[in-house]
Parts: sequence; structure tokens; C-alpha cells
Amino acid sequence: MDQDQPSTAESLEAVKARLRQSFVDGLPERMEQCRADLAALNADDATDEDVQAALQRLHLSFHTLKGSGASLGLDTLARCAEPAEQAVREALTQTPEQRASAKQGLITTMSARMDTIERELLDQTARPPSVPDATAARAEPVTSFTEAHQRDHRMVYLCDDDPHQLRQLANQLACFGYPLKAFDRLEVLKAAMLEQTPAAVVIDIVFPEGENAGPDMLAALRQRLDTQVPAIFISSRDDFSARLCSVRAGSSAFCPKPVNIPEMVEFLDHLTNPTPPEQFNILIVDDEPELVQLHAATLEAAGMNCQVVTAPEQVLGVLERFRADLVLMDLHMPRCSGQELASMLRQIPGYVSLPIIFLSSETNQERQFQALQAGADGFLVKPIEPRRLIDEVRLRAERMRTLRSLMVRDSLTGLFNHNTILQFLELAVANARRNDSPLCFAMLDVDHFKQVNDTQGHPAGDHVLMALSRTLRLRLRDSDLIGRYGGEEFAVVLNDTTLEDAIKLIDALRTDFSRIQFQANGSHFHCTFSAGIATYPNCPDPRRLTETADHALYSAKHAGRDQVASQACDSATW
Ligand code: GH3
Ligand code: MG
Ligand code: MG
Repeated sequence: MDQDQPSTAESLEAVKARLRQSFVDGLPERMEQCRADLAALNADDATDEDVQAALQRLHLSFHTLKGSGASLGLDTLARCAEPAEQAVREALTQTPEQRASAKQGLITTMSARMDTIERELLDQTARPPSVPDATAARAEPVTSFTEAHQRDHRMVYLCDDDPHQLRQLANQLACFGYPLKAFDRLEVLKAAMLEQTPAAVVIDIVFPEGENAGPDMLAALRQRLDTQVPAIFISSRDDFSARLCSVRAGSSAFCPKPVNIPEMVEFLDHLTNPTPPEQFNILIVDDEPELVQLHAATLEAAGMNCQVVTAPEQVLGVLERFRADLVLMDLHMPRCSGQELASMLRQIPGYVSLPIIFLSSETNQERQFQALQAGADGFLVKPIEPRRLIDEVRLRAERMRTLRSLMVRDSLTGLFNHNTILQFLELAVANARRNDSPLCFAMLDVDHFKQVNDTQGHPAGDHVLMALSRTLRLRLRDSDLIGRYGGEEFAVVLNDTTLEDAIKLIDALRTDFSRIQFQANGSHFHCTFSAGIATYPNCPDPRRLTETADHALYSAKHAGRDQVASQACDSATW
């Protein structure tokens, strides 16, 4: 939402009052339309098709008055609209003959309903809004993240009574850029922790002091410290009781020895640098401008990012640009119902698993069930309490993020997998074309990796891949996309980047990576990578970008490895 987005200072209640007023201002026009439809029903030359069409328009109008009235706090309006909606729905199910005979009665009832609504409308205009709503949602505090972030000195304390293991662990963690202090005695660790709290602590369980001395010391220390230090236990004991006492001491993770370093780095990254609470992207489809904005304001107050659409035919276009985590959809809309729209989305492979929730004033369970059969994931009834709306949407969006992440990420490195990075490349090229901006695609391949596996062992090879993926993640911008293209091949999409800048950037990464000292079997080694870069618009589509980057990579390998090469798209060969 842009121009109508509530300022942070504007409370949800104020937004609701503003939208209610805007809805009330538009009511005379709506009523005029209803009167016109009623006149069409009554016309002497009206065919049954004309009557049906007028009834359908009336049904949508009253249904909307009911739903919007209730959601915006115009209760009398909602109460008047409901029986009118029902009467029209009944008429729609009758045979033409039944309809003809019942028509006059229907027109009289509807006319009376409209009079009441108009009276209510006048009343509403005269009365200033509004009674504050105690259930109004407030913006969620996000302080826990900001505080943790500010506290972010990344110092990690390590404690193990075996000096050899301690040194090895310290060396390996240092490769990943953690400032460390190593202790081989619990007493010394304790004193250090009382002096300065580290970002995390890694402790052995068994010490000369006892079988559970590590957890016992930490548990006692926790009572004396104000802050909770994240702790990871490491142990050659991997039994139930070791794990239990580690959990009881408030540990965040448990790594059996020999420690899987990439796994521990993942834990440490997570513990010392918590990611901000995820901002969910929610698409709201509802033909009622006031309602769509009320729901958007509610979700935005809880930190979500909303895009609103009031015409169903715009949904496909918007979804292409807006990576929605969930669609909140009205059921009764003109030209295309929510049920039809949901079915349409389910027929598009990319949206098969996109959560769709109906938010409608439809209270008939049979019709709710029918709508759900289009492949939707839930049904919420308007009017809805802000808290409930937020919880329902967040719960489903979170689950979707988790599932999606399992589908699109590589399990060793956590980077996007091959298919996903290619899909993102397509989107990125489409975006670059639309915005007339440059883009680069780089392919990176570890040099002589087979030899690393052969001489250092497969786990050491994995360690190298983890380290490279981590270097990429730390050094690239959030807007850049990083994927594991194949075994020891990585792909990077650099949005809005010229070839010159991309070469500088990837070359700097190359130098950084070559300096990392790896450890295996008591010896050190270093690794390098080669890279090939192609650029848009020189390569005008994803296929030519990937093939050109691959050619460039091949020439970097050929020229001696440990270097970055770029290549222009050779259109003659396509
Ligand atoms: P070049 O410099 O020409 O790229 O030589 P290279 O040895 O790196 O290339 P090659 O393609 O011959 O070997 C790649 C090796 O990467 C072979 C494969 O066993 C190994 N590999 C692939 N995936 C993984 C993985 O997940 N972990 C480990 N440890 N090794 C992997
Ligand atoms: Mg290689
Ligand atoms: Mg290879």
C-alpha cells in the first residue's frame, strides 16, 4: 500500500474511523445503484434474464453492505442488509414463474430495507465517529531483535579440559570469522563470564570436577548473570542423561564429538546473530476498497507487508511482481468469484502451494465448504477481530515459509538449490528488463575439489563448501541471490550491478576465500575458486546468461584457475 498506508502514528482505530467515513460517503451512490436495480426488476419489459442479472447485482450489493457494515462498525447497516441479502438469494433460487409471482412482494420489502438503510446513513453522517475498539491491534514490539543485534559483539568462549581438542575446535571456528577465547578450566571460564558476557559459550560436559560439571557450572552461573548466554554443549557422551542435563542447564544446542563444525557454525550463526522477525508478504483481494484497506492496516500494524487488489483480474499480474506468502481473498466479488480465482491460481504450477484464505461474510457452512473445495486453506468470517486475523494469517504464512524453505534450499549449505536459483534468475531478468537496469550472473567452481576430497576426506570437502557458502552469504547484499548450482559449483545473481562492479566484487570474494585456512587430519590447507561472469543486457535472456557464464568459467579454469573471467554473449553461436 502506498498513498493510503496508515502512518505509524495513526492508530488502527483511527484508520478504521477514516475508512468508515469514506464508506459512508460512498453509500448514496451505492443506494442509487440498488434503486436502479430494483427499478430494473420492476420494468414491464424485463425478461427473466434481466431479472436474474438485477437480482445478482442486488445480492452482491447487500452482501457487501452486510460485510463491510459489520467490519467497519456500522452495525445497524449490517443488520438491515442481512435479511435483504437473504431475500434476494432466495429469489435467485426460484423458478422464473415463482419469481414472477413473488416479485412485487420482494420489491416492497427491499424498498423498505433501503429506506431504513438510508435513514441509518443520514444518522451516521450526523453522528461523529467513533467508540474506541478495545480489541484494536497494536504494532508488535520487535525490541528483542534490536536489542540482541546491538549486543552483537560476536565473541565466543570455548571450554574443554582436553587441550588438544580445545585447540582444534578453536582453529576451526576461527576460520569462520568468530573471535574466540579458549579455556581449559571451568573455574577460569566462570571468572571470565562474570567479567564479560560473550555472545555464546561452547562447553564440554565432563570435567575432572564431575560427570556433569559443565552443565552444573552453567546452571549455577545463569542465576548470577542478568542475561541468558546462549550455550552449546559438546560431549563424547551422547546418552539421554547427558542431553537431559544439557537441556536443564538451558542449552540451545548439543553437538556430540567429534563435532560437526559446519553444524556448530550454523548454531553459532543463529545464536549470535538472530535474523529479524520475518516480514510476511500478504496479498489481499477484495472488491471493497474500505475493507481491503482495513484488513491491510490491521496486518501492517502487526509488521506484515500488504499489497491490495480490488479487481480480481489484476491478481495474476500483481502476483508476478509481489512474492506473496499468502493470499487473503474475498468470496463474493463482481466478474469473478473468490472460488473461481482460487481454482485459477491452483491451475498455475507456481501457485499450487500458495496459501489462500477466504475472508468473507458468507456464513452458510455449505457454501463455505464449496469454496474451500477450490483448494483454499481456510475460511474466516467477516467481521473478524484484528487479533484473530493476525494470528490466522501469521500461522499459515509461517508454515508456508518453512515448507518453501525445505523445498528450495540445499541442505548442506542452506543456499537456494539449482532449480530455485534458475527460477530466481528468470524473475531477476524480467525485473531488469522492466526497470532497464543491468544484472550479472556469476558461476563459481572450487578448484581441484576432487583432490581436496581425495587427500583430506569428504567431510573436509563439505567443510570447504560450507565455508564458501558462508563467505558468499556474509559478503553479498540481501538483494543478491546465491545458489548451490551443483556439487562444488555456486551461482550468484547480482541485481542492478554492472559487469565492472561484479568483477571487482567476485574477485574480492575470491581473495577472501583463498585466505581461509582449513584443517583436516592435523594439517592445514587452502582452497581457491574460479568464476565466470555474464551480464544482462549483453546476454538478453536467462539461457544465454547461464551458458555464457559457464563458458567464461571454463576459460578461467583453462587460464590456470583461481581467477575471475567474464565473457560477452557470442550471439553468432546461438
Ligand atoms: P576443477 O578445478 O576443474 O573444477 O576440478 P575439480 O576437481 O574441482 O572438479 P571435478 O568436477 O572433477 O570434481 C568435483 C568433485 O566434487 C567431485 C565430487 O565428488 C565432489 N563433490 C560434489 N559434491 C560434493 C559434496 O557435497 N561434498 C563433497 N565433499 N564433495 C562433493
Ligand atoms: Mg571444481
Ligand atoms: Mg566441477
